[in-house]
Amino acid sequence: MSQAVPDGIRFADLSLSAPLLKALADVGYETPSPIQAACIPHLLAGKDLLGEAQTGTGKTAAFALPTLDLVDLKARKPQALVLAPTRELAIQVAEAFQKYAHHMKDFHVVPLYGGQSMVVQLRQLSRGAQIIVGTPGRVMDHLKRGSLVLDDLRMLVLDEADEMLRMGFIDDVEWILEHTPATRQTALFSATMPDVIRRVAHNHLRDPQEVKIKSATTTVSAIDQRALVVHGNQKLDALTRILEAEESLDAAIVFARTKIATDELAEKLEARGFAAAALNGDMTQGMRERVIAQLKSGQLDIVVATDVAARGIDVPRVSHVINYDIPYDTEAYVHRIGRTGRAGRQGSAILFVTPRERRMLSTIERATRQKIQPLTLPSLTDLTERRVGQFKQQVMDVLENEDLFFFNELVGQIRDEHDIKPHLIAGALAFIAQRERPLQLDPADWPEILDANRKDGPKRDHDKPRRENRDEILGRRRDVADGKLAQYRIEVGYQHGVTPKEIVGAIANEGGIPGKEIGQIHLFDDHSIVELPSNLSEGVLGKLQRTRVCGQAIRIRHEGNAPARPFKGKPGGKSFDKKGKREGFGDKGKGGDFKPRKPRSFDGPKNSGFDGPKKPKKK
Ligand code: ADP
Ligand code: MG
Repeated sequence: MSQAVPDGIRFADLSLSAPLLKALADVGYETPSPIQAACIPHLLAGKDLLGEAQTGTGKTAAFALPTLDLVDLKARKPQALVLAPTRELAIQVAEAFQKYAHHMKDFHVVPLYGGQSMVVQLRQLSRGAQIIVGTPGRVMDHLKRGSLVLDDLRMLVLDEADEMLRMGFIDDVEWILEHTPATRQTALFSATMPDVIRRVAHNHLRDPQEVKIKSATTTVSAIDQRALVVHGNQKLDALTRILEAEESLDAAIVFARTKIATDELAEKLEARGFAAAALNGDMTQGMRERVIAQLKSGQLDIVVATDVAARGIDVPRVSHVINYDIPYDTEAYVHRIGRTGRAGRQGSAILFVTPRERRMLSTIERATRQKIQPLTLPSLTDLTERRVGQFKQQVMDVLENEDLFFFNELVGQIRDEHDIKPHLIAGALAFIAQRERPLQLDPADWPEILDANRKDGPKRDHDKPRRENRDEILGRRRDVADGKLAQYRIEVGYQHGVTPKEIVGAIANEGGIPGKEIGQIHLFDDHSIVELPSNLSEGVLGKLQRTRVCGQAIRIRHEGNAPARPFKGKPGGKSFDKKGKREGFGDKGKGGDFKPRKPRSFDGPKNSGFDGPKKPKKK
């Protein structure tokens, strides 16, 4: 920082009034943060101030405490105005004032922001308040209609000035500056100091004291940052594992790019049993406030948010920020991860990077001057161990803390009535207790996450099974072209009501051919063509000869090696690509998460449910 702050400075050294010191003790702040120690004396001395410090460094109290010290509680006229870029921040700052003013009788603060009914705001204003916190647009509205009169204004604070600039409010801010008494004291806070902000400061601040707190290290160092290179269609599964397994996870903010994505993701997480909700600009102010309040109180653990909606959220229990979609720029990244590691706690930030976005990862590393460590996803075994560990702990906690007399008697009765050993009864009870959250994880619910960093064919861990990705499907098709797979004709077709699933099932079961070795299936009216390994033994073929599907003996026979585009235009046959278009090969659709759309042609057994004990997937 540009001015040395003596170490070991205490709030009591800052000549703040007794009610404020009392409130600070209530909220548990031990010492002023560097920006507070540096700014408070200047502001108390009536100086203008230009403060530069990263998010999370405690800027709010840096201006709120001295501002509270100068207001006259007997006068119910606005004496201080704080401009903040968003509704959330305005509310948060107003709440902070309220908190620090807890022991100040007759203190009133009014937040003014768009989206809230004018009627409510007009009523609050007419009752009178010493401090106004608002977004520039709404404050301007009130000034213009005369519902806000700032003749007695003594202090004006511009909070997060760079963000106001980014959001296009700077003209409004200047307008407001020009419409307030020139005698006022002015403080401008910003995480960065671009030229435009400097110009505003130069034009509207009088000989300001400059306070700069060296960035990055203070905020970012308290945050452990990791990144996972992952394919887009596997993000949800990766996220699920992380949320399940992160040791220190208390609450998380998950950032997605669009409003729709926040809704969808929140819904999916809810369906997977997490207490999750979306937070985005489509929600009414009331809904958003409720979500933040629920996150604070622990009713919600996960909030899936857009950048704008989450800006400035200050919920100390947020232990994790997960960048589900990578941010557009490094600044957004820093703001996002600043939602964790609050109030001196340790925070974790996790970044999902699709293979195409790798460049952004190194840009972020360069900008934050920190290496982002690769994230190792927990294996299914890790997840199981963790659940088992938590279960054991729960049992021990109950043994220690609950009155179990009635239950011990009950178990005693079961033991006596059925002559069963207590540990067997306990086993049954454990089974009942874990039903909602099974201790034995079903691999089908936990698809394997491919290592998207590897180009040389995907690595699989033994967790299995998993959906085939696009490369594999194409690879398999290439095998057809190379003669590793051949085409076989079977005498069951569309008119018999057969589905690809039944064909794959029969061939896999009767012929003992692993699902992954079965290629495309094409249904015709009275027969079908199936791609199978070209080297099927006589024994297997014999077995398949006798196999029946839909009441038909399939009488399998070799049709020839499969060409790359085997059926295009062939009369009678219907061949569809993933999108249901008439095409056989080389579709350029994106993603590997294919679902069969038409029963007539079929793209591989992975979709058929015959490749393992696949339970219907939760939403
Ligand atoms: P900024 O505006 O710089 O992003 P905030 O003012 O929102 O930071 O403060 C970040 C967090 O730190 C808040 O949770 C706040 O309550 C907490 N905090 C602020 N000052 C102190 C302090 N002196 N001691 C402990 N916690 C503090
Ligand atoms: Mg702030």
